[in-house]
Parts: sequence; structure tokens; C-alpha cells
Amino acid sequence: MLAIVNGRLILPDERAGGHFEAISGLALLIEDGRIKDVMPEVRLRADYSSCPVWDAGGRFVSPGFINIHIHGCFGADTMDKDSEAIKTMCQKLPVHGVTSFLPTTITASMEDIQEALGRVREFMKNPWLACGAEVLGANMEGPFISPDYRGCHQVKHVLPPDFSYVEPYADVVKYVTVASEELGGDYSFIEKCRNAGIIVSLGHSGAIYEEALDAIQHGMTHATHLYNAMSPVHHREPGVTGAVLDAEGVIAELITDDVHCHPAAQRLAYRLKGENLVLITDSCRACGLGDGVSELGGQQVFVEGGLATLADGTIAASVASMDMVVRNFAHNTGLSLPRTVELATRVPARELGCLDQRGTLEPGRLANIAVFDSDVNIYATFVRGQICYGQ
Ligand SMILES: [Zn+2]
Repeated sequence: MLAIVNGRLILPDERAGGHFEAISGLALLIEDGRIKDVMPEVRLRADYSSCPVWDAGGRFVSPGFINIHIHGCFGADTMDKDSEAIKTMCQKLPVHGVTSFLPTTITASMEDIQEALGRVREFMKNPWLACGAEVLGANMEGPFISPDYRGCHQVKHVLPPDFSYVEPYADVVKYVTVASEELGGDYSFIEKCRNAGIIVSLGHSGAIYEEALDAIQHGMTHATHLYNAMSPVHHREPGVTGAVLDAEGVIAELITDDVHCHPAAQRLAYRLKGENLVLITDSCRACGLGDGVSELGGQQVFVEGGLATLADGTIAASVASMDMVVRNFAHNTGLSLPRTVELATRVPARELGCLDQRGTLEPGRLANIAVFDSDVNIYATFVRGQICYGQ
């Protein structure tokens, strides 16, 4: 048993309409990797006087971040033909407060994508026993995208949507990105994915507004990195971006590294989507390595001052980290840190259907915790009650 004391606990608060608030004077009691109880510190001292305590030093004690869209970091990439890559990501991600993530594939040959999904499956079957971030499944970004809105994805590997490629990995894939116009009005792909428990994400798409809205009404409930690689808002043709911003049932990813979307665009997204936003990094292997030459999806990537680009200047994923995107979004919107944290914890956990286990620090949940100061500098990260980063 362990109790985390002297922290500002980020918890849902009835007085704030159930939103996250920071509450002082409470202890978090951890047993067998789970949160056993949340109680006033005075009660902890009375009832559990012999319980070891960990002092958070007045910092925020938050649910650990869940990154649903991450290709790689610290030199490792989901597409690496090497099971060490996922292990490296698990080991290193707690540095950024991440306790769960979805290794994300990129457009490549279907054989390479399926091999990568197979490696994620193997990793989940035989999880790494050392302390590290958990793998919750895979995010399949491409190859069912628009050649015209491919971003940094290689056009030669783009394919029309075909569920038979996804089906053998339905136990692993949590999201699949699809350009709605590539469905040609046949929504059986969406239906098959939904029946298999896979969330279909609208993205890398040049659809017109009506096409996008039609696909949304047929079950596309998520959008891949809002604003990026999708037809933009025009007041007479609101495009995919307009459809995603306008449709209430769609949860939109946002890369708030201030490179992929302007602070004002972040504010607009929050005004229109509220809690239907998920903060992601979309990071590549160069994340955490500093400036230099890197790789993504079989292409050279040049990293300079927080910007990752292909040789032709196309933005190539990001070098952002979850602590950074949370910090930026709070700063850009004026939203409190607890409210911002919701978009990196409870919102993705609810969408993934694991809110009973993750995404909040309520009793019964896994003790997946990030501890940070008011500038979101990560001080410590716990996964299943074990300290993976910090002391
Ligand atoms: Zn991506």
C-alpha cells in the first residue's frame, strides 16, 4: 500500500458540473496497482498511520496522459521491424506523463502495416514486465486516405478502404482513418468497423461538406488531427473541417504543438467542440531527440526548432510531447490545467471504452498517475501504482 499526499488532486467535482478540478488536502491510497480510496489526509493519518507515503510537494496529481495518436518517439517507430521499438516507447513515454498509448501505423505497404499490427498484438499478449506506459491497441492511420490530402504519407501505398485488410487485426485496431469520399457513398466499411468495435476516423480527406456530413451521420464519430490534411473551412464550402467542427457527435483530435494549428484555431476548436476534443501529439521517432535528420513512413524528415518536415517542406508529424500539448492548450485557451487534462485523459478513455479502468483517479481505477507543476513539468509518473519516472 502507498499513499500519495500533499498534492493537488485532479478529480471530477460535482460543484463544477463533474468537470475536473484540483483539490488539496486529499490523499490517494494505492493498493495492488489500483486506487483504493481518496480520503482527507487527516483520515489517512488516523486510519492508515503505518502506510508509506509519497509526498507530491504541492504539485498536481493527475490521471496519466493517454496518447491515442503517436507514431514514435525517442528513436523508435511503430513501423520498425523490431519488437524493441514498442518497448522503447513504453519505457520512455512516462517521461512525458504518458501512462497509456496507441502505437500508430502510417501509410506503407499493406504487408508492412499488418506486420506492425501483428507486433502490437504480440506485445499486448506478452506485455513488457518492467514499469512503463501501457499499450491499449493500435491506431491505423492510412492507407485508406485521399491521395490529394495525404500529408506526409506516401501516395504509392494509398488504397481504397477495404475491411478485409483490417478484419484480421480487429482485436488490436482501435481507430482507422478513412477519407470519406473514398467510400464512394458505400458505408458498409464503417458498419463493419463499428461492429468489430473499431472507431472510424474521418481524416486525410478532401471531401466536400455534404460528403463529410453524410459519412458522419453513417457512423464516423472521430476526426484525425482536426485542420490538418482535410479540406478547410470556406464560408460557402465548409469542407471536412467545417463538418467536424459543426457536428456534435464527432470527437476531434488536435495537435496543440502550435505548429500544426495556430493558438486562435485552438481556441475556435474549443469554443465549438468543448469536451469533444482529444489532445494528441502525432509524434514521430524524432520526438525527444532534438534537431537533426530523422525518418517517417520511409521518408527523410528534417527537424529544426520543433518543426518536422519532409524535404519538400510538407509538415511531417510532430516532435511534440503530451506534457507540451497540455501546457500549450491551457495557455492558448485560458482553460484551467484540470479542465485541459480532461482532454488528454478522461475524454480518450471514455471513447476507448476504458473509463472504468483509466482516465480518472476515482477509486477502483488503475493507479496511472502523472505528477507535475503548474507549468506541466513532469515530476513523476506511476503506472499501475509503480513509479516509472521520477523518484
Ligand atoms: Zn499521424
